[in-house]
Amino acid sequence: MLPVITLIGRPNVGKSTLFNRLTRTRDALVADFPGLTRDRQYGIGRIGPRPYVIVDTGGIGSAAEGIEALMERQVQRAVEEADHLLFMVDTRDGCTPEDVDIARRLRRLGKPITLVVNKSDTMDPTLAVTDFHRLGLGDPWAASATQGLGIRGLIDHVFEQLPESLDEDAAETEDDRIKVAVVGRPNAGKSTLINRLLGEERQVTFDSPGTTRDSIFIPFERPGHDQRYTLIDTAGLRRRARVHDPIEKFSVIKTLQAIEEANVIILVIDAHEGIGEQDATLAGHIIDSGRALVVAINKWDGLDPDARNRVRDQFARKLAFLDFAKLHRVSALYGSGVGHLLDDVDLAYANATRDLSTPELTRLLEAAVMEHQPPLVKGRRIKLRYAHQGGRNPPIIVIHGNQTDVVPETYKRYLINRFRKELDLLGTPLRLEFKSGS
Ligand code: GDP
Ligand code: GDP
Repeated sequence: MLPVITLIGRPNVGKSTLFNRLTRTRDALVADFPGLTRDRQYGIGRIGPRPYVIVDTGGIGSAAEGIEALMERQVQRAVEEADHLLFMVDTRDGCTPEDVDIARRLRRLGKPITLVVNKSDTMDPTLAVTDFHRLGLGDPWAASATQGLGIRGLIDHVFEQLPESLDEDAAETEDDRIKVAVVGRPNAGKSTLINRLLGEERQVTFDSPGTTRDSIFIPFERPGHDQRYTLIDTAGLRRRARVHDPIEKFSVIKTLQAIEEANVIILVIDAHEGIGEQDATLAGHIIDSGRALVVAINKWDGLDPDARNRVRDQFARKLAFLDFAKLHRVSALYGSGVGHLLDDVDLAYANATRDLSTPELTRLLEAAVMEHQPPLVKGRRIKLRYAHQGGRNPPIIVIHGNQTDVVPETYKRYLINRFRKELDLLGTPLRLEFKSGS
């Protein structure tokens, strides 16, 4: 599982600036779709030796209320789930009484902490940190979130402190199983669906050793099928910890870790509740991850036709950017519609890992451009010449041409839709990368 690094500190010290810098999606490969919600509290850190979950506690509490709010229940929980805390202070303010107070509370937690002295661009970095030695948290680390100074070194430093079990590449344990993560908001029906998929009679008891934070990996096979799977169960925590409060049992961190770990996601949506903010945020994480996807609209039983239409409309409106995924209306409770979910998991995985030939991609590109020319920019037409595959899972199509850095978002989406349709790439997101010259 990805390690969890959590940002903590007073308001305005630069937590969200650092969060944004660390989570910035790679080279804007991920298109911005209308309606896509980006989570400003939880993200995948991409600067550093390996990916990790990064949490900004600043957005969680109501910062105006000060220290008490910082230490409120949700922050407490985020801190508990952390593998390493980055305690941020502002060199321009010097060491404030609140910093001293937070440091005292943090030390009590017994978690590894690195003290980050931010805004060190505003003065000599060696002077910037001197005031903070008295916090007793070891050597302060000078950084500038806006300028990007000291950030890569900081993350390298954190990785050096992580226990060995966390300091490994998740992708190393490859086998022929498709890893399927079942994710969704609390009470969407994840546990019920997993029990269905595993077969009613197999009520597995989940008390494998390990920390309560881990998701559970359940290997399983389908009778009569060759493909083998590993289910990643993000709802397992509750069963083990016997937590009944739905908010308590739901962990965004665990969900993010599961998404990163998986090949294919099953996103479970509660049709009784409709599409909410949490669904949209999860969908945003899934888009950013590039994972293949199958959507299960659950609790389809007992819905009257009006309610069914309402959910269909909501989905089309709020989650239009998930239109690459196959959508199933299911009842995990009664088992209807569940049987075909795994067929589409197989399909999504096959498409995500497919080899695409250069001549075919180039031919499709030419046809797309012929039918709908890219726009003129400053009197010159953008030229797109040829395409080849640049990666799998998700498939990346590299397009060569001129002025490719100004291809508008709408034209990118046109190309993505075109490629998806022509190549019949259901179930997987598709990414474009542009190269100018040659
Ligand atoms: P948060 O409340 O801790 O999340 O703080 P923000 O990230 O919102 O930053 C508060 C202010 O400090 C913003 O105006 C940032 O632009 C500024 N800021 C953040 N990091 C730096 C930095 O490294 N150097 C300077 N000079 N300003 C910064
Ligand atoms: P989780 O929090 O996502 O793991 O959700 P659970 O699997 O624990 O389900 C939450 C509640 O929804 C339970 O009371 C389930 O019995 C109920 N539930 C799950 N699937 C369905 C379904 O397909 N139809 C109906 N009507 N209820 C369901």
